[in-house]
Amino acid sequence: MANLKPNSAEARDVLFHLHSQTNPGRHAEVGPLIMARGEGVYVFDAQGKRYLEAMAGLWCTSLGFSNERLKAAAAAAYDKFGFYHSFNHKTPDVTIDLAEQLVAISPIPHAQAYFATSGSEATETMVKLAWVYHAARGHQAKRKIIARDRGFHGSTIVAASMCGLPRMHREYGLPLPGFLHTHCPDAYHGALPDETDEAFATRLADDLEAMIVAEGPDTIAAFIAEPINAGGGIVVPPQGYFAKIEAVLRRHDILVLADEVVCGFGRTGNWFGCQTVGMQPDMMALAKGLSSSYFPISAVLLGRPVRDALAEMNKAGELFGHGFTNSGHPVGAAVALETLRIYHEMDLVEHVRAMGTRLKTGLEAIANRSAIVGQVRGEGLMIGVELVADPATRAAFDPGLKVGARFDALALQNGLIIRAMGDTIGFCPPLIITAAEVDEILDLFARTLGQVETQVGDAQVR
Ligand code: PMP
Repeated sequence: MANLKPNSAEARDVLFHLHSQTNPGRHAEVGPLIMARGEGVYVFDAQGKRYLEAMAGLWCTSLGFSNERLKAAAAAAYDKFGFYHSFNHKTPDVTIDLAEQLVAISPIPHAQAYFATSGSEATETMVKLAWVYHAARGHQAKRKIIARDRGFHGSTIVAASMCGLPRMHREYGLPLPGFLHTHCPDAYHGALPDETDEAFATRLADDLEAMIVAEGPDTIAAFIAEPINAGGGIVVPPQGYFAKIEAVLRRHDILVLADEVVCGFGRTGNWFGCQTVGMQPDMMALAKGLSSSYFPISAVLLGRPVRDALAEMNKAGELFGHGFTNSGHPVGAAVALETLRIYHEMDLVEHVRAMGTRLKTGLEAIANRSAIVGQVRGEGLMIGVELVADPATRAAFDPGLKVGARFDALALQNGLIIRAMGDTIGFCPPLIITAAEVDEILDLFARTLGQVETQVGDAQVR
């Protein structure tokens, strides 16, 4: 533990606390950055330094870090009871209200809501429901799941198996058998020279169909995708991609699962990401923005065919053998209900579109003056800026230069929190962000980019 004062909070953290998605050895050297409180789109560390949180924490605090109404909604729910469940026909009343409100905005017709507590549980629940669906129709062998490279679907074993990121598999011998991956629809790097978006999307759909045929269509249950990949580097699929992919899937009786954990609730400039990219899912997983992460709650919305299959399966009086202790927790439901009320009142979609356009246009203007920005991409308030060694050839930087990590560290010094995914800089600010706060992100981004350009220039000369 280099330089950490004995018994300080930093030293105790290193001793007692294992951190998610953190290198333990490096953590022991540098110690934690301890955050003390939040105010709107800002957070303050233990020393009182202010940061503009341009990642909404982990793509989640859509209403910022200090919403009084959510606090009051939780307190009022705790006044009734600290817990009740939804097993064995019981339920808190507020959980019914939340289910009704979700169904009212669901792009999946005749939906029902199932509740869990994390995004991983929601994506895994969709897998189980897909198995139920096929089994009820006599297709017990339809079990395999197709996900995509660079997708992220969670950290539990099935959810991690569906991720298309090596760091989620390496130490664990994942993915499990039967979890397959097809291409990420990244036209910037994946399209052939002179290949149109349309031709690229057609090629990806053809490759998917070849995989399905090779595996045996009667062995494949479902396909899962984020409408826009978040953790894999903010990848927007080319126009028409999902229509082509879904035509293949429907041909082979394969369910379409949308992971809306990041894209849901206005993030991409529509209520749901599937509406932005023209995806028509059979089920969708929701979390994060559902409660602005003020309480751990997630949900699956399932449509009529899956509901019918469940009813069929359970005709003989069997239970739906699935459920988490905290499924439909009344405090989570109350917080989520209030979150939805605020989204409706703030004219969510219009606000996100206006702020998203301001952020993207501003980033593009800065990119035009820079020699190291390859692409600015995204929808609504979910934008990625990819830094490259040569924008003309799209050649990446030497990984040894750690350009993304440098950007992250310098941005932090400048009071800006972003997410570096490789050399792509991600922005996913709270949806309540104002025009002045967007402009502050742009100033801090421009300043940091200039510093990175100088550092990388120096490192390349040396
Ligand atoms: N799906 C997506 C798209 C995500 O980004 C995440 C988390 N970042 C998850 C699922 C998993 O959510 P959780 O961490 O709540 O399990």
